[in-house]
Amino acid sequence: MKNIETPDWNEVVDKAKASFMGVALGDALGATTEFMTSREIKVQFGVHNQIIGKGWLYLKPGQVTDDTEMSIWMGRAIQDSGGWDLSAIAEGFADWMKSRPVDIGSTCSRGIKNYIVHHRLEVPPSQWDAGNGALMRMVPVALYSLGDEEILGRYAVEQAHITHNNPLSDAACIFFGRLVHRAIMGDTLNQLQTLADDFVITHPKFRYHPYPKNSSAYVVDTVQTVFHFLFSTASFEECLVSTVNQGGDADTTGALAGMIAGALYGIQEIPKRWLKRLDPKVSSEVPMLAEYLVNHSPLSRIS
Ligand code: MN
Ligand code: MN
Repeated sequence: MKNIETPDWNEVVDKAKASFMGVALGDALGATTEFMTSREIKVQFGVHNQIIGKGWLYLKPGQVTDDTEMSIWMGRAIQDSGGWDLSAIAEGFADWMKSRPVDIGSTCSRGIKNYIVHHRLEVPPSQWDAGNGALMRMVPVALYSLGDEEILGRYAVEQAHITHNNPLSDAACIFFGRLVHRAIMGDTLNQLQTLADDFVITHPKFRYHPYPKNSSAYVVDTVQTVFHFLFSTASFEECLVSTVNQGGDADTTGALAGMIAGALYGIQEIPKRWLKRLDPKVSSEVPMLAEYLVNHSPLSRIS
């Protein structure tokens, strides 16, 4: 049964790969300017547009951080358990934390310890847990739920609550998943912007026009930053470069911009010089995970 709205499957796989690679590239590019102000970046780099590592974490060129790593560990957990198994995902996060990652956010760390010590898959609701740590790892969820928005909503919130149980975080997780879905299905930048403008009517905290120019790890600041630069640029490269040059939580805003821009513009638009620089372990595993996830999504069963 061929759904007429379904794009060519090769195109779906291509955009899924570009979305997951976009996370890794935005993370690797943005980690250099994480916690800098846009003014400091300008003084030091002019425009920061090369994957060179360093930053406050003293990374190697092409090295990724928690944003990409948590996404990869979640993708592996889905693949290894052959389905959506929240315990397997939490177990993956625990293994990741035990692997002594280069960076880990405090809310993620607390949530993962909550699982390790108490075997709980959900932290209690908290108005303070409105960081972007659950949002930054949404790409495997978006790809694996492709074709079913109800499943997206459930998976997005379930995985989020392992570490972040907060309505703003939940809303952002679901909506970013939706943007990835729509971009893979062929929506244009203008169509995505219409969706985002509808989203901010129902969730006015996320209003991004005029852009408040805060790019912190607070999920509202993060979402506004990604929306602003996604909708004011016209290519993958321009979108990611503009985003990470705003500074702040630049690896995470970069990763999220890359997630949407990858799904929107596709693999052909990703600068070759960035691909060459990315950690080879990441650039070989990420496309395979992305392909597995969409090939086992609800859409794969109706296409
Ligand atoms: Mn990070
Ligand atoms: Mn970050």
